[in-house]
Amino acid sequence: MRAVLSIGSNMDDRVALLRSVFDEFAGQIVAASPVYATPPWGVENQDEFLNAVLIVEVEETPLGLLRRGQRLEAAAERKRIQKWGPRTLDVDIVDISSFTSTDPRLVVPHPYARERAFVLVPWLAADPDATLAGTPLDTLIADLDPEEVAAIRPLGPIEEL
Ligand code: AMP
Repeated sequence: MRAVLSIGSNMDDRVALLRSVFDEFAGQIVAASPVYATPPWGVENQDEFLNAVLIVEVEETPLGLLRRGQRLEAAAERKRIQKWGPRTLDVDIVDISSFTSTDPRLVVPHPYARERAFVLVPWLAADPDATLAGTPLDTLIADLDPEEVAAIRPLGPIEEL
């Protein structure tokens, strides 16, 4: 099963926290975006996020993959103070090939993916041919606020940070 993961961190050692996800999926990563610095979304008085997108090829079920991401979040001692507030590590399943779900435990495609430059811009970098529910990513990005898109800054591949 091929899945698109969006990962983000805006607390503690952000690069190390993102790297924990790359390490977990080592050998199963089909493509990865550079790491991007992105302004906080939703709640603005918090630190900048680092975000990246990984495309992984895994054996487990979609819920198994969700639990794997949640174990990484728990290992990062994720603290949730407020909705959309600071977090050490967030692992979201953005999309899974040939799979959709409206189960609230796992909604796929991720309902917010199409609105968020910090998901779409890295995903396009990782997979220039990707589509979300049939729409090419560059078409979705063209519909976003250009300022939001311009604010997503590539820092470089995780190996170089
Ligand atoms: P959040 O705190 O925003 O990361 O949301 C975590 C909750 O969202 C968990 O209870 C998950 O079961 C649920 N969830 C629903 N769909 C997804 C998805 N596509 N990826 C990750 N978590 C999801």
